[in-house]
Parts: sequence; structure tokens; C-alpha cells
Amino acid sequence: MNCDKAITEVYSFLDGELTAVRRSKIEWHLRKCPPCADSFHFEERLMLLVKRSCAGDEEIPSELFDRLRALLHQETAEGTAGE
Ligand SMILES: [Zn+2]
Repeated sequence: MNCDKAITEVYSFLDGELTAVRRSKIEWHLRKCPPCADSFHFEERLMLLVKRSCAGDEEIPSELFDRLRALLHQETAEGTAGE
């Protein structure tokens, strides 16, 4: 599994849509690949945030995802904090 594939699968992983075999392939990749692991934890946080703000099973608007992603990126971008 390469990084592009891993990142694509991360979304399905977090949605719980993957089979056990595919999940273990991703976990294996994340263990060897810190950049992908970072992305995974980032998306995991994002997913948790979105779930918390949208209690219920309605469709989550993609612009909400985009806004939260931008916010999280700001928050995690070290070096720019300090204002
Ligand atoms: Zn990777």
C-alpha cells in the first residue's frame, strides 16, 4: 500500500466502512509511515469534532468539513501561534 492509497482509505477507515483485512493493511502502513499516521490522527480529530457538532445521523455538509479542517490546520500549524 502506498501513501496515496492509505490516505484515501483513511476516510473509509474512520467511517467504519472497511473490512478487517483492509483496516489491518492501513494500520500496518500507519505504523511504518509517520506522515500518514499524522494525517490519520488529524482526520480522526476532525471526524470526532464533526460528529460532536452534528449529533444525529444527518448528512454532514462538506463545507463544514472544509471549515473545520482549516481551523484544525491553523491550530496545529506551529510557529504561527503567539498572537
Ligand atoms: Zn504513508
